[in-house]
Parts: sequence; C-alpha cells; structure tokens
Amino acid sequence: KTTAVLLDSRVEAFLQGGPKKLFIGGEFVESLSGRTFETVNPATGEAIITVYEADKEDVDRAVEAADRAYRDAWSKVTPSERGKMLWKLADLIEEHAEALAQLETLDNGKPIQETRHADIPLAIDHFRYYAGWATKIHGEVIDNSAGTSLFTYTRREPVGIVGQIIPWNFPLLMATWKLGAALATGNVVILKSAEQTPLSAIYLAELIQEAGFPEGVVNIITGYGPTAGAAIVQHSRIRKVAFTGSTEVGKTIMQQASGNLKRVSLELGGKSPNIIFPDADFSKAIPGALMGIFFNQGQVCCAGSRLFVHKKVFDNVLSDMTSYAAQLKQGPGLDESTQIGPLVSNEQFTRVSDYLQKGMEEGANPLTGGKPVEGNGYFIPPTIFAGVEDYMSIAREEIFGPVVAAMPFDDEEQIADIIRRANDSEYGLAAGVWTTDVRKAHKVAHALEAGTVWVNCYNALDAAVPFGGYKQSGFGREMGSYALELYTQVKSIWVNLD
Ligand code: ADP
Repeated sequence: KTTAVLLDSRVEAFLQGGPKKLFIGGEFVESLSGRTFETVNPATGEAIITVYEADKEDVDRAVEAADRAYRDAWSKVTPSERGKMLWKLADLIEEHAEALAQLETLDNGKPIQETRHADIPLAIDHFRYYAGWATKIHGEVIDNSAGTSLFTYTRREPVGIVGQIIPWNFPLLMATWKLGAALATGNVVILKSAEQTPLSAIYLAELIQEAGFPEGVVNIITGYGPTAGAAIVQHSRIRKVAFTGSTEVGKTIMQQASGNLKRVSLELGGKSPNIIFPDADFSKAIPGALMGIFFNQGQVCCAGSRLFVHKKVFDNVLSDMTSYAAQLKQGPGLDESTQIGPLVSNEQFTRVSDYLQKGMEEGANPLTGGKPVEGNGYFIPPTIFAGVEDYMSIAREEIFGPVVAAMPFDDEEQIADIIRRANDSEYGLAAGVWTTDVRKAHKVAHALEAGTVWVNCYNALDAAVPFGGYKQSGFGREMGSYALELYTQVKSIWVNLD
C-alpha cells in the first residue's frame, strides 16, 4: 500500500508552464538578464522547475517599485487596513495550507507531517499575531516641560524600504517571520528567498497579491546570495536589512551593510546545549532530546546539538535514544509515513557527511547512524555520537544536520561546571534544561548564555515570544513586541505652544 502523498491540484498548476518569475511591483516578471536556475527535489536529486535568477539590476527595479509604493500608496493605508490585509493573508495561507505544505516539502525535503503540523500553522498564527499589532504602534507624550510652553511627544515611524534575506530550512516560515512585523509597522519590503528553496515564497507572493497589498509593498525575488543578496545589503536606499542564515554570511552582511550604515538584524547559527539532569522526567526528556536534534533533519539554528546527560543516567538515556533513533522512518518527505527526510541539498549532504567522517577521526563513536545513505537523494541517518570530548569539532561547530554530540557530566550538587561547559561556545541561540527541581531549572536558565532557554520542552515557538541570539548567534529579536523595534524608528517632536 502506497503512502505517497497525492499532489494537490494547486501544486500541479503551480508547477505547470515556464520558469517561475520574480514578484516586483505587483507583477510577476522575468529577471532582466533572463537567467534562470533549477530548484532540486532533495529526495531524488532531480530538478523540480526552473526559477528566474535575480541580480543587482532586478534589486534596483524592486527598490524603485518599493519606493513608489511607500510614498504613493502604503503611507496612505490606515493601520487598521494594514492589519486587515495581514489577517486576510493568514486566511489565504490557511485556505491553501495543503498546497503550501506539499510545495514546501517537495522543495526542502522535510516530512509532510512536519510541514502540515508545524511550518504552515506557525506561519498562519504569525500573520494573525502581527495583524493585531498594526493598530497598536504608538509613541508617547513626554510631560517633562511643565511650566514651559514646550510640548513633546514621540512617534514610531517605519524605517522605509527594508531588505530581508532568508535561509532554506523553514522557507515559508522564515518569510513570514520577516514580513509580519515589517508590514504591521508600515514598511515596504524586498525579500530574497534562499536559492535552494524558492518555491513557497513565490506561491506566497500570489497570496499577497490576492490579500490586497498595494503593488510594490512586498517584492519577492529569487536568486543567489553573493549577487542578489549582496545587492540588497549594499543598496543605499534600503535602510535596514534583516538576515537569517549562517554566522559566516552574517559577518559578511554586517561588513557590507556598514558601507551605508544600514540597520542590521541577524539571526545566525547555534550549537545549543541540551542538559538532562538525573532528576528529569525521562518520559519527556528523551523524546524531547530526540526532537531537539532530529526535527527538520537537524537543520534548525536552535537544534540541541550538544547533549549533556548526567553520568548517572547517561547509559540509560543514550540506550533509549539510540533504539528510538534507529527506528525513525527515513524517506522522501512526500510520503505520509516519513519521520525524517533528506537534507536540503547536495552541498549540505556533503558538509554533514564530512562531519560524520571528522567525528570518527577525532575518536567519537556513533551509537547509531554515522554513514550517509547510499543512492539517490541527500539522506543522512539520525546519528548519535558518544565518546565525544568538548574540544572536538563535532562538539563545537554547527553541523546543521541530524547529528548529536552526547557528553556525560558530573556535577553532584554544583551546577557551575555544567554551566561553564554549556556556555563555552561562541554561539548563544538556545538551550534546553531537563529537571524536576524548580530551583535548579530557574538557576540554570538564568545562567545560560542564550537568547532562548527551554525548560522541560524544546523547540517551542510562538509568534508572541521573542527569538534571537546572544554572542555570535546574532542580535535583534524577531517575534513578539520586540520585533517592532527592528522595523520602527523613533521621532521626538517638540512643539512650542506659545
Ligand atoms: P546556509 O549556509 O545555511 O546555506 P547561508 O547563510 O549561506 O545559509 O544563506 C542564507 C541566505 O543568505 C540565502 O538566502 C543566501 O542566498 C544568502 N546569502 C548568502 N551569501 C550572501 C551574501 N554574501 N550576501 C547576501 N546574502 C547572502
């Protein structure tokens, strides 16, 4: 009996016809160079469809469209109407949920169960959350001039034209995280999707058009980082750039954006510690640690890739994790029963394969997995390394694959030592703590150098809760009220009442 997903007719229709176009000024257009590139199905390694490749001149064109939209249309739309459009967009995503889930899975490889139950619902919630904020952006009256004739107040104004560059691991959701706050606060946007996964953003562009946003308010382009991406980062009329991706590229972006002192927010890599104390509820901690690393094939910036387990329980926890990981059903994302899909690309497959090799060379021992799957598609089995030391590259570097470095710790009553090891990283995106001792949970959560700490849970996300990094995991907070700061600037107004 086949468990392959039957393709939605909307996906079939989307994949008909010629190369997919850029969305600029409310129209679907070819790139000026006419160049295209292929997007690949990672489960097979075969091309899905070609997509137009944007370059600098297309970014220029998008900036013109955005500028016109900002001056002529968007600034005349009331906050309430902006909110309504965002809400409408959420409704449209909901209506097209199955098509979007399938397209995302086809392009990225992730299991359809995950796209249906995580990516898409989170995207819908996100737009609804920011729809509410559109009418709640306000400044304040500062009453410090009593006895004088001066009256002062502040306004929170949009930044103007913002550039957004997103990665391939949650293509639709990352577009959503970027667009929600920027649009709620009245900005116009040029968003570049990742070259590995352009399709859901193009589909989203169609829904944006249908939701009634004025033409040019949102421009979505597909293309490569060093060309189209760099053109966004360097463009002098784009006043802010928001980036999610690798720490390495984040550094390049910050340097390039400094040329015109563009505002920058960066959500970068991680090597997040997940700490299991001996008093944990193992019925939660074990599945939590597994999901913490194997969700989305480990291609998650906040993946719990350094697993610290107290030595008293290390063998039991690892033995349970290993037997469960070995049973995870790996296959094409578009199979209903798949629990773990392929990695996104051949490049990522090679990168993670190299880390498996390196882990072994450094003396670590895979309890399960450890070797890439032979054949078509970019499959790496869930891998748990034991025998890992803190200094090894698999314990220090971001692998961005289904590979966890498990290490015992011994702390008795002191937590200082495990805190020191957990914090001994240039990254600081997230961390997990598993314990039933409420005092210890909070103490550890406070001491960890990370933008998010999950206690007795992992990978929990909500549009209302800020997310972002410490240290070289970046700066700026997306989601919640905090993201509004990324996309507004404060103006102080003095009025002489005399
Ligand atoms: P990964 O290494 O996980 O593929 P990257 O950080 O390379 O992630 O890519 C994330 C996003 O950044 C993609 O949209 C990519 O095209 C873009 N990008 C890559 N290099 C640059 C660059 N030099 N300037 C601007 N954007 C870039």
